[in-house]
Amino acid sequence: MAAHAAAAAAAAGFVQQQVPLSAYTTWKVGGPAAWLAEPGSLDEISALVQWARSERLGLRSIGAGSNLLVADQGLDGLTLCLRRLQGSRLEPQDGLIDALAGEPIPTLARKAARAGLSGLEWAVGIPGTVGGAVVMNAGAQGGCIADCLESVVLLDPEAPGHTRELKAAELDLAYRHSKLQLEPWIVLSARFRLNSGQDPAVVSARTSANLHSRTSTQPYQQPSCGSVFRNPEPHKAGQLIEALGLKGHRIGDAEVSPLHANFIVNLGHAQARDITALIALVQDQVQRAHGIALHTEVKRLGF
Ligand SMILES: Cc1cc2nc3c(=O)[nH]c(=O)nc-3n(C[C@H](O)[C@H](O)[C@H](O)COP(=O)(O)OP(=O)(O)OC[C@H]3O[C@@H](n4cnc5c(N)ncnc54)[C@H](O)[C@@H]3O)c2cc1C
Repeated sequence: MAAHAAAAAAAAGFVQQQVPLSAYTTWKVGGPAAWLAEPGSLDEISALVQWARSERLGLRSIGAGSNLLVADQGLDGLTLCLRRLQGSRLEPQDGLIDALAGEPIPTLARKAARAGLSGLEWAVGIPGTVGGAVVMNAGAQGGCIADCLESVVLLDPEAPGHTRELKAAELDLAYRHSKLQLEPWIVLSARFRLNSGQDPAVVSARTSANLHSRTSTQPYQQPSCGSVFRNPEPHKAGQLIEALGLKGHRIGDAEVSPLHANFIVNLGHAQARDITALIALVQDQVQRAHGIALHTEVKRLGF
């Protein structure tokens, strides 16, 4: 048996079938993935890509599922959840960090602060992975991934034996956008350059203060995907929605958060269709009242 076929056969052994994706999204909604695997190494990812090709299955990658709305009917093909691919290497002298795609962004922000590296303090409250944060060009409190990203290492599912490196300048990074959103590539790792030689106590204090200011103004204890809508500059989506008295508005168990109007929270048993209907209602009312089209920041899968 050729080496890649043997690897593919092994991969098939740890692929699960009909896995509810509600357990893989922070909104706690989403139907079953036809096939799902959580690879913990590059070899496992390569083998799974090979297996999906041999089975002629489509393939998508997810991280912590903190920016996803997955349809109630679920997803076909193979879903690769990268959240087990964790680890990072810091070089405090040079200000460089290499992090695997599944490393939680808050963990990385804390590690950087402890090493006296400044530049990720804003990221501590974002419950995603490095891969998802790069794909989304995540940002908060005046900072974003584009400010500190040097390069990413990718795997092209069309060429599973080879990885490639792209510089940040090649990724079309813009507000919550990167060209990775348009490509099937799997982000394996990312390299960041931060400001070195800072006082770890000061950076850590700034990091903690950022987290505190978010958890006191946003519904962190309830299932959500963070901000549902992009801010239509110069306006704030939350303020436009709040001005219409929509805080607390519910469809099923999906509710416009009474704490922050740009969050839709799951009160327990919300379905993707409830959230979809609430998003449409908010968009419709904001359009009628303010003449402004709200666009979603969250990625919809399976619709
Ligand atoms: C409480 C809360 C607060 C939030 N606050 C913020 C905020 O302040 N700022 C902000 O920008 N976002 C925020 N978010 C949204 C979300 O956390 C970010 O967008 C985050 O970067 C998504 O990372 P993830 O790993 O969860 O990606 P996922 O949601 O799993 O995926 C997001 C996109 O990236 C792709 N993807 C993920 N990993 C990979 C990979 N390894 N290779 C290829 N593609 C991949 C997916 O296919 C999808 O298109 C918040 C979410 C929550 C729940």
